[in-house]
Amino acid sequence: NQLSKTLRKLKTQNKKLYTLANVDMMTKINNRRSYFIKSEKALKQTILNDIELSVLMMDIDHFKKINDTFGHAVGDQVLISFCTIVNSIIDEKAIFGRIGGEEFCITFVDTSIDEVTKIAEEIRNKCDNSILTIDNKEVTFTLSLGLSKREKNKNIDEILQSSDELLYKAKKSGRKRLIRTT
Ligand code: GH3
Ligand code: MG
Ligand code: MG
Repeated sequence: NQLSKTLRKLKTQNKKLYTLANVDMMTKINNRRSYFIKSEKALKQTILNDIELSVLMMDIDHFKKINDTFGHAVGDQVLISFCTIVNSIIDEKAIFGRIGGEEFCITFVDTSIDEVTKIAEEIRNKCDNSILTIDNKEVTFTLSLGLSKREKNKNIDEILQSSDELLYKAKKSGRKRLIRTT
């Protein structure tokens, strides 16, 4: 009948609105807003239950050069391929988001820092070893990464800030590497 038809329509529209508000259209992963909301929520849970949480920040090296060499459209494809690589390595529990143009974060819950380090190195290696074919051109790229974990009284912005500082160190010391908290 008419009512259930209207309800169905509303449901579909709600779903579309949710996607628009939470998903990065190009890469189909969490957008910045959604990443922060989910990570903040996860952080609260880990504090309550005294379990581990860590944030891995990743930035593609010399991405501007990829755009300049191959064009912006190829750059876009690199970002999409990068997300496919990451999604093939992490599980659904990990919160993966695009926080800026070519900057990405993953929040890991209840995973030891050593285990996350292994995952991060796997991501770094797989990106390092991938030769993407886009528009009949062979494109390679590398990543710099920073990894830090939840400590007392830190909110999600402060954890990200720590990861960002380590990422900056990785950039300064030659790129294509991971630096984690000691
Ligand atoms: P670094 O190794 O220091 O990170 O150098 P970089 O060139 O990767 O970093 P920089 O911040 O100088 O440049 C980032 C570039 O990413 C500039 C911007 O045009 C590009 N970019 C941001 N968002 C997108 C996007 O959605 N698509 C494409 N193709 N490029 C983007
Ligand atoms: Mg970069
Ligand atoms: Mg950047």
